[in-house]
Amino acid sequence: MTGASNRYPTRDLQARDAAHHIHPFTDTGALNREGPRIITSADGAWLTDSDGKRYLDGMAGLWCCQVGHGRQEIADAVHRQMCELEYYNTFFKTSHPPAVALAEKLAELTPPQFNRVFFTSSGSEANDTVFRMVRAYWDKMGQPEKKTIIGRWNGYHGSTLAGTSLGGMKGMHEQGDLPVPGVHHIAQPYWFGEGGDMSEEEFGLWAARELERAIDEIGEDKVAAFIAEPIQGAGGVIIPPQSYWPEVSRICKERGILLVVDEVICGFGRLGTWFGSDYYGLEPDLMPIAKGLSSGYLPIGGVMVSDRVASVFIDQAGDFHHGFTYSGHPACCAAALANLEIMQREKLVERVADDIGPYLQAKWTGLADHPLVGEARMVGLVGALELVPAKGDRSRAFEPAGDVGTLCRDLSFDNGLVMRAVRDSMIISPPLVLTHEEADLLVERTAKTLDDTYAVLKRDGRLAA
Ligand SMILES: *Cc1c(COP(=O)(O)O)cnc(C)c1O
Repeated sequence: MTGASNRYPTRDLQARDAAHHIHPFTDTGALNREGPRIITSADGAWLTDSDGKRYLDGMAGLWCCQVGHGRQEIADAVHRQMCELEYYNTFFKTSHPPAVALAEKLAELTPPQFNRVFFTSSGSEANDTVFRMVRAYWDKMGQPEKKTIIGRWNGYHGSTLAGTSLGGMKGMHEQGDLPVPGVHHIAQPYWFGEGGDMSEEEFGLWAARELERAIDEIGEDKVAAFIAEPIQGAGGVIIPPQSYWPEVSRICKERGILLVVDEVICGFGRLGTWFGSDYYGLEPDLMPIAKGLSSGYLPIGGVMVSDRVASVFIDQAGDFHHGFTYSGHPACCAAALANLEIMQREKLVERVADDIGPYLQAKWTGLADHPLVGEARMVGLVGALELVPAKGDRSRAFEPAGDVGTLCRDLSFDNGLVMRAVRDSMIISPPLVLTHEEADLLVERTAKTLDDTYAVLKRDGRLAA
């Protein structure tokens, strides 16, 4: 794909964008002065912009493009579906073949307790569904006072009211008086940033037991569920200490609360297993999914519903008063099915576990030797670098937070690599089809970007003496 259909010069597109387009998670005024990069085509792990510059897509779009860009096979499957049945709903006693086939496929790929899915168009809608389903479940169980959902500070569960509330992003909460009532947040298992003098193991247990302390404080009879990402993505690729998840699992089981594992990023091979729950040996009751489900080719998400939860909805008469016009959209289901077909045929999950994952991890963790890097971490194909002013001292961070990350991200684009900055951590989450040569290039360009960032900071006297 060449982007050949774009007939407009970059400046013209930027001016029209500035005049009419409000971007997500963006300071629109600042963007309008600078002008956005215009991406016109993509292929495999590569993006091309409107000036013909090529970038290695180290973020797989937005954590989603598992099979790489430009797969004709997915476009063809969607085209065929659109010609046959472009749209019909799944509300009023109707279904259609692609929704049936995808639901069945998901039951096969997910952990054994999952045999049913509720379809949405996004991860945020999946978490709104979780919010309502969890409360409806306890209602049906005769415990309507079990309403509070516990999430984590700096967790991310989307941008709708429920998603923002369940998530723990303070900047998001401040806009719109969130969270909504009935949500409680506990500490995140972020050892590098918040572990203090504790060892990783100790800190992991401490962070997990924050859940137990919160349940005691709120009252077990009032807590409905705990929601968390296996590895926090948008929060900065925070990989919990090994001691964390077993303790959280124990607490959820002993205290009779539902465990919701948000698999929107970790699902579909990102960690070298089909789901993050497989990687950590978790047994969730509900599992929101999106992103890698369709590799982003069309918007689709869902909630995997365990037999424990589903049986209550199925055995008791009465509607679940919830759904979306596009729940199980046929063309989106067709895209997801074609995407999963590629993932299975090309054994992409196994490839992340045995081949490209270990290959990139070895090189990526080697970046920890750079004077600007406090920690280099990666599981499967998702990783982060912590940029620090004083190597070897976790207590010191750049101030104000985020400037150095933004600088590094901009320099990375100049070097033809898309990385994302979360505060002063640099994040990558490349397509699962990344080749060895592309992995080499990714690490080379990252190293060059770190050198460039270091040079600017040194020039400006922003490094510790
Ligand atoms: C991206 C994301 C979401 C939200 O998904 P959208 O499709 O953007 O609504 C929810 N949870 C996690 C963990 C995510 O990374």
